[in-house]
Amino acid sequence: MCRRFRELAAHPTVLSRAAAAAVALRAGVWSDAAHRFLRRCAAAGNLHACYFLGMVRFYCLGSRASGVALLARAAAGGHAAALYALAVVRFNGSGGGKADKDPHAGVALCARAAWLGHVPALRELGHCLQDGNGARRDAAAGRHLLLHAAARELAAVSSARRRGRAGEDDDGAAASRFMVEWWALTSAEKPATAAGEGGSCGAGEEDAEELRLCSHARCGRRETRRHEFRRCSVCGSANYCSRACQALDWKRAHRGQCGAARWLAAGNAY
Ligand SMILES: [Zn+2]
Ligand SMILES: [Zn+2]
Repeated sequence: MCRRFRELAAHPTVLSRAAAAAVALRAGVWSDAAHRFLRRCAAAGNLHACYFLGMVRFYCLGSRASGVALLARAAAGGHAAALYALAVVRFNGSGGGKADKDPHAGVALCARAAWLGHVPALRELGHCLQDGNGARRDAAAGRHLLLHAAARELAAVSSARRRGRAGEDDDGAAASRFMVEWWALTSAEKPATAAGEGGSCGAGEEDAEELRLCSHARCGRRETRRHEFRRCSVCGSANYCSRACQALDWKRAHRGQCGAARWLAAGNAY
């Protein structure tokens, strides 16, 4: 019975249809076996697994090329969070240098993700139109998209409240939760490993200590090179992978923190 179950569970048809929740692993249980399971689901064509493993490889394991390839496979299958993830990579030139930033490609990917109903992509697109970043400037159209995104965010918050949980069944949220937990675990491990040598993060950057996490507490993306992320232009102490994260964190937390930082910077510390 147990063997039969294992055989069934390993069947490509089952793996290809595993639900988002089945591939949404937690960082605390990451292992070679977990990695193998995701790889097999991805190889069987499971888009949730392609996206999840793509994010883990790109950001946590530092395997940029294979991470992007997996995200591209999920995106080609119409996975909205993967399209948006690739947009963030192109906007920032993640995994490459400053010269690899490609806002036009980012806007095109965001537009496809927004069309599929992805709200952060809709917000990002609104900011791009307002700023003329990667698209011809159209402030009115940008504002319209931002209002639309804000309404969708509000609806998502109230429906999550009704259900008593915060978007846990969403692919983007599951990958973000993994990354947030991953960085918390690796930073907790650091004192036990050789300090200053990049620790156990596995990202392979020589200056991994200098790389910052996105300040939006639920994002989990980390810089792939120094000073990659945009900074809060007011306090300079918060870093964001995207305008969408910046706007969400402003509403959630930074509005209060940024004010306090300014007050202290003005010489009011005691
Ligand atoms: Zn972010
Ligand atoms: Zn600030």
